[in-house]
Amino acid sequence: MTRASKPPAPPAPPADADIATRFATVRGVIDTAARAAGRDPAAVTLVAVSKVQPVEKIRAALAVGQRVFGENRVQEAKAKWTELKAEYPDVELHLIGPLQTNKVKDAVALFDVIQTVDRPRLAEALAAEGKRQGRLPRLLVEVNTGEEPQKAGIPPADVPDFLAACRDTHGLDIAGLMAIPPAEEEPAMHFALLADLARKAGLAQVSMGMSGDYDLAVRMGATYVRVGTALFGERAAPAHDAPEAG
Ligand SMILES: *Cc1c(COP(=O)(O)O)cnc(C)c1O
Repeated sequence: MTRASKPPAPPAPPADADIATRFATVRGVIDTAARAAGRDPAAVTLVAVSKVQPVEKIRAALAVGQRVFGENRVQEAKAKWTELKAEYPDVELHLIGPLQTNKVKDAVALFDVIQTVDRPRLAEALAAEGKRQGRLPRLLVEVNTGEEPQKAGIPPADVPDFLAACRDTHGLDIAGLMAIPPAEEEPAMHFALLADLARKAGLAQVSMGMSGDYDLAVRMGATYVRVGTALFGERAAPAHDAPEAG
């Protein structure tokens, strides 16, 4: 779907390209965008978003060397990844969807990174569960850069206070910020806002950019890009409900 206000999508692999070609194409776009911005391409991690995708496609991605993956539902990730993670201990699994407090236990046990810390109750639950399990995933705070009422995330103005509460009240180490810009808006201003908030807070990680705009996100400072469709092809589920789905 094209929208007048959106930047041109990055070069996409042909629809019938094999998985090795797709990963090489996307990685090439990232590297080119990073160099164009005077950044080190190695500072940008490609998070391959495998939500809804069947295990055979994930195995194909593992076979071409991809090790960092994103899922948006805890139960689905547990079903797909428990065995795969035992087989590939160097996999780094990111939760990029909303986390309910009753799933915190499973999420802390399974994920290496949780990108969607978005409310005090969740911060509190993560801190408690981290103590119980003696491990905590790397944590990113989700920011609602578009201040959309229906969307998760901390409003930009509240980010400094929320980060202080995570640190001082809950003893949590926050590694960075993540955002999903409003689907119908030009993403550049949202990417700039997120990168600026992270810089001001002294946080190293900035998670932004999806299949339609990850090259722009890299130029604007992303350290994690979350790319699904450009790597794996269209998902079986309706394409546009995905980012907000719980
Ligand atoms: C699904 C999803 C993505 C990947 O979207 P594509 O457009 O398929 O690249 C990225 N981020 C989040 C939070 C998602 O839910």
